[in-house]
Amino acid sequence: MKHLEMNFDQCWDILITTTKGKEPPRKGILERLLPELNIRYDEYKQKCKSLEYVTETVRSNEEKEALIHCYESPLKKISSILLPSLKRVQAFCPYCLVRHVQTRDHFLPKDYWPDFSIHPANLVDVCYTCNLSKGNRLIKPRRSVLNPYFDGLDSCKLLRCDIAIGDIIEASYSITRDYGADEYLYDVACRHFEEFGLRHLFGAAVASRISNLYIEISTWASQPFEEQEIKEKWEKLVAGLNKNGAGCNHWEVAFFSKLIEMDGVSTHINKVVGLC
Ligand SMILES: [Zn+2]
Repeated sequence: MKHLEMNFDQCWDILITTTKGKEPPRKGILERLLPELNIRYDEYKQKCKSLEYVTETVRSNEEKEALIHCYESPLKKISSILLPSLKRVQAFCPYCLVRHVQTRDHFLPKDYWPDFSIHPANLVDVCYTCNLSKGNRLIKPRRSVLNPYFDGLDSCKLLRCDIAIGDIIEASYSITRDYGADEYLYDVACRHFEEFGLRHLFGAAVASRISNLYIEISTWASQPFEEQEIKEKWEKLVAGLNKNGAGCNHWEVAFFSKLIEMDGVSTHINKVVGLC
């Protein structure tokens, strides 16, 4: 549920360079396929907003092997051309936003769409758990994965955080159309939220964050906080998260943004950390 930057400028060059570096018979197979792959790459670009509609092409075993073999040799080359902004946000998996990046996913699985085995826009650096969970499913017949490059997740808020303040602060998450998401993206987001277990994952992450919040606040000051003062700190925190690419669908951003909107937060915080 995270937006990453991507452009298509170098995608084709990578395939050409990779083909040139291959040995026969793979080289000959790939050279023969290049005119068709050019059309396929164009189709990927045209349909990037709904990639599940990119045609699956039937390939012979030899063609499929040659195409997938491209992925196995030039990993370093592909990584080197991915945009700096993509590298910068590699710390967290864009599918779950909680676990660290450990592996690389083919958004359109290479077993069904071998033509895009080294297409940079089809490669997403993710955590092992999400990669395993997605596998070859979740794309067809209905897409159940948000695409971090093309779904415009920076400008489309889908994640809702509800907060209850009792003895402690409790938060829960859901996907919503409250903020104007279109129906197609909302449906994909609902399935993504479900398939990757994000209700539970975000719930656990925010519970841990809330515990740390009380500890942090007790170190900030010895005087009771004013409502405005504490909210200004959180606004800076949200700005910092967004500066690092978190975005409006990040669980921590959604949590603090909601907390800022609520009344009487300072009373609760001061009471919990023993400042009044
Ligand atoms: Zn993940």
